[in-house]
Amino acid sequence: MASRRQALKVAARAERTAPDEGRLQPAEVRLAQPRGFCAGVSRAVDTVERALALYGSPVYVFHEIVHNGHVVADLAARGAVFVDAIGDIPAGSTTVFSAHGVASAVYTAAAARSLRVIDATCPLVQKVHLQARRYVRLGYELVLIGHEGHEEVEGTVGSVEGPVHVVATVADVAALDLPDAARVAYVTQTTLSVDDTSQVIAALEHRFPAIVGPALDDICYATLNRQRAVRELARAVDLILVVGAANSSNSNRLREVAAQEGVPAYLVADASALEPRWLHGATRIGVTAGASAPERLVTELCERLVALGARLVVEVPGIPENVSFRLPSFTPPAVLSAAPATA
Ligand code: SF4
Repeated sequence: MASRRQALKVAARAERTAPDEGRLQPAEVRLAQPRGFCAGVSRAVDTVERALALYGSPVYVFHEIVHNGHVVADLAARGAVFVDAIGDIPAGSTTVFSAHGVASAVYTAAAARSLRVIDATCPLVQKVHLQARRYVRLGYELVLIGHEGHEEVEGTVGSVEGPVHVVATVADVAALDLPDAARVAYVTQTTLSVDDTSQVIAALEHRFPAIVGPALDDICYATLNRQRAVRELARAVDLILVVGAANSSNSNRLREVAAQEGVPAYLVADASALEPRWLHGATRIGVTAGASAPERLVTELCERLVALGARLVVEVPGIPENVSFRLPSFTPPAVLSAAPATA
């Protein structure tokens, strides 16, 4: 990885551009810092790799280990088998749970099949599960700020007993119908937009003045840092390219944050998704990557930009990150009887 302001040595592959694509003006490519893999994603990917090394193929993985098709395809080529139903895993198999976390019922289903579970749920997601359980145990009506249908939200909802009210917008808050407005608590998904979430929290506090919650503390450090970095970058470039998968929550939020700064912003799964027409007239191109996008994809995008005529790739100064998480236990009890106390 290049250091600050240091030009990256990016091999310029010859690219045959279609006649109507043209070439870039002599543009500069600026890389956001930080970008790409967070500690939770690194841990989850390392977990699958270590499970393959220890136990051999197949290692079953419940859901995409992280939301990136390239990461999934790479692990699948090495022997990981991705499934969306515990019932599809042969009894007794080694199984990794993804970084997004799972519902208590999934632990129970895994126990019923005698699976050897290695739990790669991000510790920061586990923290939200713990908070949610604590609020419910104390008798609060629980509101979860997040996107319905996202695996992390499903895992958090399913990790507590009792109803959870999922809201994503201020309008959702207005529509809430809670039995006891004096005893309401909230938690949030870890990968939300900081600004959007602040508005939803303000709406909750307006409707339920006694509400308790962690403010923005559930939004994880990686999400915060990447959003800050892309916001700053967007103020200094003509357009932003976000490397990330369409189903990656934090990648989508990065694109939205950049667009809120008034620059065109595009989410690209990889270099092949880049449309050269987006670049016309741009002399400063900002590039970042969601927390589940490997650096290899950023390098390949830069190579394509250079092939299209960009002359310089620089990494802008940013927030240093030195967060890392220990791998989960690889000697778990052969059978989990229920959700572990920390998840
Ligand atoms: S984005 Fe945050 S919560 Fe999600 S895996 Fe990465 S560190 Fe964990």
